[in-house]
Amino acid sequence: MARLTAEDLRRLPPPAKTPADCACATLVCAGWESVSAPPGEPLLQHRGTLRDDADEDPTLTELHEGGTRYESPRAPIAAAYYPFNRCEVWACRACGRGFLQYTEFGGYYVDHRLREIDPALLR
Ligand SMILES: [Zn+2]
Repeated sequence: MARLTAEDLRRLPPPAKTPADCACATLVCAGWESVSAPPGEPLLQHRGTLRDDADEDPTLTELHEGGTRYESPRAPIAAAYYPFNRCEVWACRACGRGFLQYTEFGGYYVDHRLREIDPALLR
């Protein structure tokens, strides 16, 4: 799977351009949302990954600014930082809106996380 960079993500349409009647409009995830299952195919198309396969221990450091936190809708999207460094990149087949997805594995749980890609938040 192709490794993508911030430059690739910058070419995605801003979420504000999502048509209200697009099938992906039901995915509300300006900030990181827990979803019961990753949406995936056929609604979305897998575009690539932000993971560096050569890095077996990607950082857990988060990048924030202006008081944002992990779940903040305005938190920066920074490919080199957690959790973006373990994300897969998906895009709506109809309108091209981009999504990031990763899965947290805890001792007793699996947590699928989804966030839309707003190019204005890329760092
Ligand atoms: Zn769409």
